[in-house]
Amino acid sequence: MAVAVIGKKPITQGFRLIASHIDCPRLDLKPNPLYEDMGLALLKTQYYGGVKKYQWVSRPLALCGTISRGDGSVVDVEMGLKPDEPVFTIPDLLPHLARKQMEQKASEFIPGESLNLIVGSTPYSSEETDERVKLKVLELLQRKYNITEEDFISAEIQVIPAEPARDAGMDRGLIAGYGQDDRACAYACFTALLDTVNSEHTAIAIFFDKEEIGSEGNTSAQSRFLEMFLADLMENTGTEPSSGNLQKAFFCGRALSADVAAAIDPTYADVYEKRNDAKLGYGIALKKYTGRGGKSQASEANAEYTGWVRRLLNSKGVVWQAAVLGKVDEGGGGTVAKYLANMGMETIDCGPPILGMHSPLEVSSKDDIWMCHRAFKAFFGS
Ligand SMILES: [Zn+2]
Repeated sequence: MAVAVIGKKPITQGFRLIASHIDCPRLDLKPNPLYEDMGLALLKTQYYGGVKKYQWVSRPLALCGTISRGDGSVVDVEMGLKPDEPVFTIPDLLPHLARKQMEQKASEFIPGESLNLIVGSTPYSSEETDERVKLKVLELLQRKYNITEEDFISAEIQVIPAEPARDAGMDRGLIAGYGQDDRACAYACFTALLDTVNSEHTAIAIFFDKEEIGSEGNTSAQSRFLEMFLADLMENTGTEPSSGNLQKAFFCGRALSADVAAAIDPTYADVYEKRNDAKLGYGIALKKYTGRGGKSQASEANAEYTGWVRRLLNSKGVVWQAAVLGKVDEGGGGTVAKYLANMGMETIDCGPPILGMHSPLEVSSKDDIWMCHRAFKAFFGS
């Protein structure tokens, strides 16, 4: 999705764009998910994005998504998020019988094919059929959503943590909740756009999908969607959306790649670089570059643009910190920044530091998210 506030200057003189992504690491249902085994109905899943599989067992889970029915109609599905609704779960093996499991590596002791979600346990009333527990689940789905088993094939259903976000810490300074990578940025970006009026440049908030699996496909940052959106804006503001004008706009455009940063976790301090990594509660983290090792796959903002952003934040009293992603040889990662930069825009990564990133319960600081809102607002108004 993209939203814009039209500015005073024509788009060919540049724009202010903030890109976040609204997909999160999770489990997806497979195309043929439903089966019955030992008197239980289960759903087969496939994990999406960088997850530690063992974090998804023994916790309350919900189902969310969209199903395209056989007749072409579409229905949204949501089960397990409201407090009075049933939840789903993937039980872990009891410790009494887990001797072999406990000897395996963390990446292997919950194999992908073991992420099977329990969704039913009571049989359908007729005794004349097999798989009566599965049939009962199908009956309930038919009644609630008017869907058949084949409809799962044309569905996008995500298995996500069922708990709501909560205040965390005795002082309530933190937020513990699922999906803050990157919805913390998406939220702050949207609230900043709502606060943007009479800006010099057109302000654009774009919310990408598929970032967690490498920005692939027609809803991702590598798609032509932004180009189409810009052409649309030009057409509606009296500028010919020629390829020359689009080029000009992109090369005069300024962007923030709004994505979370890794906050130093004091318990695992040895993988961080304490002089350069982000700290929770120290403001929005500016990441001049991402990537891994010798800046492989990095998108790096140049000195001038980094300086411009720094001065902008300082002039508006926004609390910020510089950040990298851990020790050089520990790992690394990327964002959508390089795809924006490839189109010609000046681009820098920024966002709130997060503890427990990509886990079902990520932790952020309220102060940092407030600073993101203020930074994004300053940027849109620049
Ligand atoms: Zn992210």
